[in-house]
Amino acid sequence: ATFQELGLSVPPPNEVLEGLTALKFLKPSKVQEKALPLMLADPPRNMIAQSQSGTGKTAAFVTTVLSRVDYSQASTPQALLLAPSRELARQIQGVITTIGQFIPNLGVSAAIPGSIARGGSVDKSIVVGTPGTVMDLIRRRQFDTSALRVLVIDEADNMLDQQGLGDQCARVKGMLPKNIQILLFSATFPEKVLKYATSFAPSANIIKL
Ligand code: AMP
Repeated sequence: ATFQELGLSVPPPNEVLEGLTALKFLKPSKVQEKALPLMLADPPRNMIAQSQSGTGKTAAFVTTVLSRVDYSQASTPQALLLAPSRELARQIQGVITTIGQFIPNLGVSAAIPGSIARGGSVDKSIVVGTPGTVMDLIRRRQFDTSALRVLVIDEADNMLDQQGLGDQCARVKGMLPKNIQILLFSATFPEKVLKYATSFAPSANIIKL
């Protein structure tokens, strides 16, 4: 099947399909085929997805985010992606700008240490960051979260387990709209983390590959 043939309830804009084609992503990988119809369902559902690295999970959640943003509101943050390190946040930002290369109004802010000046604000529709910096920006009112509709947490096993990061993720989530769609991705979900993940992302669809 092709990406078009998945028959997604919220179809990716043509620019996103063109971006996937330009990368030679001609058909969805297994995790994409399973996860995209659930993540791009209408109404949105939470998701917990376990899949090894190298299976295409980054493109899966990036395609979802790119399909849920309203590009006429280019300076309103609508999607937030959290990663455990600034390097991984930068990497995800790179995948977003590559798959999204044909979207005229695409903007991605990095919310990592040193990226947003004091007094500056997060003014792009997609935000990729580390939890501590995101928390600081929200508290200082440099990041308006009121229009966010999707939250992605990559490497969720680390993010929800480690004392510091787990706390920060929970705090960030507490400052987001209550009805936000939550997507948790990880190569592993140890039982303890899975239990926490299911309370973090209530009623999530769970997929394991
Ligand atoms: P990830 O699991 O996110 O680490 O991605 C693994 C690799 O698979 C990346 O290098 C992507 O460029 C590649 N990839 C992701 N989705 C597809 C696809 N649908 N077709 C071909 N390659 C893909």
